[in-house]
Amino acid sequence: MQDLKVLFVSAEVVPFAKTGGLADVAGSLPQALKKIGVDIRVAMPNYSIIDPKYNKKKQKVCQYEVEIGQNKKKTEVFLYEEEVPTYFIHNAFYFDRDQLYGYEDDDERFAFFCKSVLEMLPCLQWKPDIIHCNDWHSGPICILLKEKYSYHPFYRKIATVYTIHNLQYQGVFPKTSLSLLGLSTIYDHPDGIEFYGNINYMKAGLFYSHALTTVSPTYAKEIQTPAYGHQLDGVLQKQSHRLHGILNGLDYKKYNPKIDPNLYTNYDIHSLKGKKENKRKLQQALGLPILEVPMIGLITRLADQKGLDLIQQRGEILLQNDIQLVILGTGEKKYEDFFQKLEYDFPQKVSANLFFDESLAHKIYAGSDMFLMPSRFEPCGLGQMISLCYGTIPIVRETGGLADTIQPFDRNTETGNGFVFRQYHPDAMKEAMEQALETYLKYPNKWEKIIYNAMSSNYSWEQSARQYVELYCGL
Ligand code: ADP
Repeated sequence: MQDLKVLFVSAEVVPFAKTGGLADVAGSLPQALKKIGVDIRVAMPNYSIIDPKYNKKKQKVCQYEVEIGQNKKKTEVFLYEEEVPTYFIHNAFYFDRDQLYGYEDDDERFAFFCKSVLEMLPCLQWKPDIIHCNDWHSGPICILLKEKYSYHPFYRKIATVYTIHNLQYQGVFPKTSLSLLGLSTIYDHPDGIEFYGNINYMKAGLFYSHALTTVSPTYAKEIQTPAYGHQLDGVLQKQSHRLHGILNGLDYKKYNPKIDPNLYTNYDIHSLKGKKENKRKLQQALGLPILEVPMIGLITRLADQKGLDLIQQRGEILLQNDIQLVILGTGEKKYEDFFQKLEYDFPQKVSANLFFDESLAHKIYAGSDMFLMPSRFEPCGLGQMISLCYGTIPIVRETGGLADTIQPFDRNTETGNGFVFRQYHPDAMKEAMEQALETYLKYPNKWEKIIYNAMSSNYSWEQSARQYVELYCGL
């Protein structure tokens, strides 16, 4: 394995910059690969919003110019050497912004990033066997390598792996993006990177990579259907033979109730009293009455993907029960307004926390009895895996990674680690929630068994990392 060299390219990486699950994967998978002996290095943009405490340990390793359209732009590369070596691609004009993305010139910013990553390699005199690209931001690397750079001897025999973390976000830009990438108009057709009159950065990854993966086996199948394919299902069907579903893992060093410093009290599978203590302290901190009622947690981006309209449709009915609902999330205003109003209408039962707070998230994972994830689609999902290890029972829709990680609890055989519904309908969700509430209230011994099953589930990175290595070696 010592010989295998991999460059992992991502627009966000924990602990430096995060908007979603991609950052968690980019923070954990390279570490797991390093553990099993891969020479793995990471490349990401040098955003100015990265905590300055890391700057002291960054060292400039090279600088050069890349062509973006008709212009030459300066790239500086900084290396951060701790654990997995990480290369930060620096250009203040492109990455000195308040957010990671969402700007009009995102096509140019990430064209610059992709070209800079490729041109960094000869400067470093380090030739990876594999460049592993992720989501739309690094899709262009696959087409640039295959169609332009591979003619240069240095780049020959470098293979690319492309991973889809969320097919919904594709990086669709006007056709002028082609010239930013330095690509001719021969790629402007449906079997190239054209997409309904535009250019699609994700398609560059789908078509021009040597291997294609996504983050769960079920999502790999779903995205080949019109309901989940975000208009790329046809493209993905064509690539079906080389599309692999490899389930994400969880970083059990970070998510472990026995040692988690964010909790009020630490606990494990043998000391569940500590979990109850977390619930009481959380109720107190959020201003909820301290009662022995089931507490349901919901920690999520407030986006349509997450199935929040189902809660909008049945929330009030469900709140007729003696329950508490704790929300932590940011996102679309329509959902922020809805949860704010729900808190206003049910102040004894609902706590709506409409901000981002990592430490509070851990407290909610630990203090809640159940965790709701009624997603419309879910490539892999971390929330359900995190809640399992805190003994908080997931109630999920059977889709994507949720289907691959949560097995419905069967009261007779006492197998399963959660509650599951299939149809995307508010009554299906309500029924699953009522089943969970009934089990919690009427069958405390069975509830303990579900907690046991949940906390014994193991979705570590080690297994996924081995699957990636197998794929790399196959290339
Ligand atoms: P996605 O990547 O689609 O947003 P995932 O379930 O894969 O969904 O990952 C979301 C991650 O972000 C989880 O670790 C979750 O705990 C965390 N998270 C989401 N919203 C918040 C928030 N408001 N505060 C703290 N953590 C959050």
